[in-house]
Amino acid sequence: MAAAPPVPWQLGGSRRASRVEIDLDAVAHNVRYFQALAGECAGVMAVVKANAYGHGAVMVARAAVGAGARWLAVATVDEGIQLRAAGLAAPILVLAPSDPAEAPAAFDAELTLAVGDLDTAAAVARSAAVRGRVATVHVEVDTGMRRFGVPAEVAPALVERLVALPGLQLGGLYTHFATADEADRAFYNEQRARFAAVVGAVRARGIVVPLVHLENSAAALSGPRIEGDLIRVGIALYGLSPSADVPAPAVLRPVLALRSRVARVMSLTPGESVSYGRAFIADRPLGAALVPVGYGDGYRRVFSGRATMLLGGQRAPVLGRVCMDQTVIAVPDGLDARLGDEVTLIGCQGAACVSADELATLAGTINYEIVTGLSARLPRHYVRGGRVVALDGLGRLTPLLPEECTY
Ligand SMILES: *Cc1c(COP(=O)(O)O)cnc(C)c1O
Repeated sequence: MAAAPPVPWQLGGSRRASRVEIDLDAVAHNVRYFQALAGECAGVMAVVKANAYGHGAVMVARAAVGAGARWLAVATVDEGIQLRAAGLAAPILVLAPSDPAEAPAAFDAELTLAVGDLDTAAAVARSAAVRGRVATVHVEVDTGMRRFGVPAEVAPALVERLVALPGLQLGGLYTHFATADEADRAFYNEQRARFAAVVGAVRARGIVVPLVHLENSAAALSGPRIEGDLIRVGIALYGLSPSADVPAPAVLRPVLALRSRVARVMSLTPGESVSYGRAFIADRPLGAALVPVGYGDGYRRVFSGRATMLLGGQRAPVLGRVCMDQTVIAVPDGLDARLGDEVTLIGCQGAACVSADELATLAGTINYEIVTGLSARLPRHYVRGGRVVALDGLGRLTPLLPEECTY
């Protein structure tokens, strides 16, 4: 019997013109930068939570591990299971609180859970013990973030009780900084000192601490030095700056671009308005172009009348309101825009660039939220060596056949 023909409407094979381009070579380059920064004694934990900050967790994780990242970090058990289902074998830490009910699934997927209390630790211990095995957990120490974790004061005593649980062993201790991305180092240094004291106190009780980790991107980039066994690199892995005070070094490469194509070209006459609410009214003859991207894709409505896209290598301001699925831009003067012309919403066209930082400032937020907010509806095109090697449409990853790959 002949093989069934491919189903033409298969999910993941998106030909939508609006897409997120992910430069896998940039991921690898950025991982190698951080591995060099970490030196001989420490390794890179690639933080790929929230679908790799919107970039696509599976392909980013593969690229990161391929470039030498020793660990992966996610925020939920489901995110970890997604990576395991895709065949990733590297150690995976779940960095945020998980529900005790998730402990058995996490154990079966060989995920390392972070714990911040004894009850959760006991649930993890039980799920390992009933299988006649031992689970390894990392303990987050709350040194001042006041989010997740064991308060520093009680951490040594809690760790002592935790390692006494049958079925459980300590895999590591870590902490997280509240102000590593700020110029003022006072609180950051306090947190570092508190954490060092906790690690010392745990070891003084004769407990083996196999791994210690504390630096996020901002801390790794701002120093004063790398300490511990792993650095947990998130935002800077994507080539983005942790903050204005701690910019990404110029050698890091931005991984993500958001692009689309002109779907209609219009000539506006004076007095004509554009989009809902007539928020823009032309005061002169003006070329306009329709871009099939909207807030349903994560291109925020607050960009209405404020953001610019790139068309023909020039800035093209958004006219009127951003809709759920469509946005209109001004055609730069003198440009002969055509149907299908490429539009860049994040990234560069020639020398002109729109950064996630620029959009974040317009939206009153941080670059993290802009890229993480790009919705699953935008297909991700994964590019390596100038060729698209895989497509991700609505969460379904499709490797491309070689003849389809050229970009
Ligand atoms: C998200 C997260 C990180 C990564 O932070 P970046 O600022 O993106 O580098 C590191 N550690 C913990 C605990 C996190 O939650």
